[in-house]
Amino acid sequence: RAKDQGKNTYMIYHSNMKERFFEKLTLENQIRTAIQNNQFELHYQPQIDLKTGNMVGAEALIRWNHPHLGMISPQDFIPLVEEMGLAVLMGEWVIETACKQLKSWLNKGVEPFRVSVNLSPQQFIKQNLVDTIERILTEVDLEPQFLEIEITESMTMDVERAIITLDKLNKLGVKIAIDDFGTGYSSLNYLKNFSIHRLKIDRTFVKDIMNNENDAKIVSTIISMAHGLKLEVLAEGVETQDQAAYLSRLNCNQAQGFYYSKPLPSVEIENRFLTKGQSL
Ligand code: C2E
Ligand code: MG
Ligand code: MG
Ligand code: MG
Repeated sequence: RAKDQGKNTYMIYHSNMKERFFEKLTLENQIRTAIQNNQFELHYQPQIDLKTGNMVGAEALIRWNHPHLGMISPQDFIPLVEEMGLAVLMGEWVIETACKQLKSWLNKGVEPFRVSVNLSPQQFIKQNLVDTIERILTEVDLEPQFLEIEITESMTMDVERAIITLDKLNKLGVKIAIDDFGTGYSSLNYLKNFSIHRLKIDRTFVKDIMNNENDAKIVSTIISMAHGLKLEVLAEGVETQDQAAYLSRLNCNQAQGFYYSKPLPSVEIENRFLTKGQSL
C-alpha cells in the first residue's frame, strides 16, 4: 500500500536524491578540473573531397581522457555537461583548441583545409557566441573561412533568433554546416530561412545506401536539392569503398567516415594525412 510504504518510499527517494546531488557535485568538479588539467582532448576526423580524394577538412570531436575511467565518449558526458551548464565553458575550449591546432598545421605549410567544430545548444543560444568566436579567431590569428560551425536542427526551434545568429556568423565569414541532416523536424525550413554552406547527411541514411532503395533515393534527392540551392553536401558515416564510389557518382561533394579514417589524435593526423606530398 502506498500509505503503509509512504515512509520507506520517502526515505528511498530522499537518499537517491542525496546521492544524485553528490554525484553531480563531484562530476561538476571533475569536469571543471578536466578543463583546467587538460583532460579533454580533441580528435580529428578527416573530411575527404570525393572528386580528388584529398582531405579538405577535419571535424574536431571531443574526448575525455579521465584519470581513472580512461577515454570517455562525448555521448556519455556531453548531456551531463549541458545539464550542469558547463557547455559554454567546454565549448569555448573546443573552438579555441581546434583553431590553434589548425593554425599550427597551416603554419607548417600544409594545403589549407577547414576545421569543423560542433556547437552545443547552450552555446548556440548564448547572446555573445559570435563575439566569442570573433575574439578567438583574432587571438589565434586564423582567417574565419577556415572555421566551420556545425549545428543541428534541434538548436533552431527559435527560428527568428537562429536567423539572427546565423546571419552574424555569416557576416563574420565562418562556414556553417547542418549536422545530422534529415533526422530533425524542420529540415526544409532550414534551407528556406538560414544562410548555411553545407549539409551533412546523417549516417543513418548512408549506412544502407547500397542495399536499401529508399535510402539511396533519399540521399540522391538531398544531394540534388542542396546543389540546386548552391549548398555543398557531405555524407557522414561512409564505411566502405562501394559507398564512397556511389556517393561520388551522385556528385556528393565530401565524405567522412571509418572507410577513410576514424577520428584521430592530432599527431596521427599529421603522420597519416599531412605528410604525403605535403611539406609538414
Ligand atoms: P557528430 O557530430 O554527428 O559526429 C559524428 C560521430 O560519428 C562521431 O562520434 C564519429 O566518431 C562517428 N563516426 C564517424 N564516422 C563514422 C563511421 O563511419 N561509422 C560510425 N558508426 N560512426 C562514425 P563521436 O566522436 O562519438 O561523437 C558523437 C557526437 O558527440 C557527435 O556527433 C556530436 O554531436 C557530439 N560531439 C562530439 N564532440 C563534440 C564537441 O566538441 N562539442 C559538442 N557540443 N558536441 C560534440
Ligand atoms: Mg558533427
Ligand atoms: Mg553528425
Ligand atoms: Mg551525430
